[in-house]
Amino acid sequence: MKNACILVIEDEAAIRKLLFITLQSSGYNCLLAATGSEGKIMAAAQQPDLVLLDLGLPDGDGQAMLRGLREWYTKPVIVVSARSSEHDIVTALDNGANDYLVKPFRTGELLARIRSALRQAVNGGQKTARPSN
Ligand code: CA
Repeated sequence: MKNACILVIEDEAAIRKLLFITLQSSGYNCLLAATGSEGKIMAAAQQPDLVLLDLGLPDGDGQAMLRGLREWYTKPVIVVSARSSEHDIVTALDNGANDYLVKPFRTGELLARIRSALRQAVNGGQKTARPSN
């Protein structure tokens, strides 16, 4: 799913830039938000195909942001966080995250998880994909 639009919600400028370059060079359209509230507005306005969400945000916890997002946003959300405890990962998955990647992440793995989440969204979502035969 090339040209998919991915919204990155990440307060650390260096990681935001890395994600932007990685996603753009892989053919994705990339939107950037530095805070949770900015991310919420951009998600509603732009309807991205996937959200990459940091948990440690300056204006609130990403877990709460995730719960809020899941009240209306049905497309994939992948959490990308430095928090690596089982509790954080389980909570995020229970809050509606499709996947969870611990920082520092490997970009090849991140891209593979994005592809996987987008495939599942197409197959399990609105059945727009036709059978190939
Ligand atoms: Ca952060």
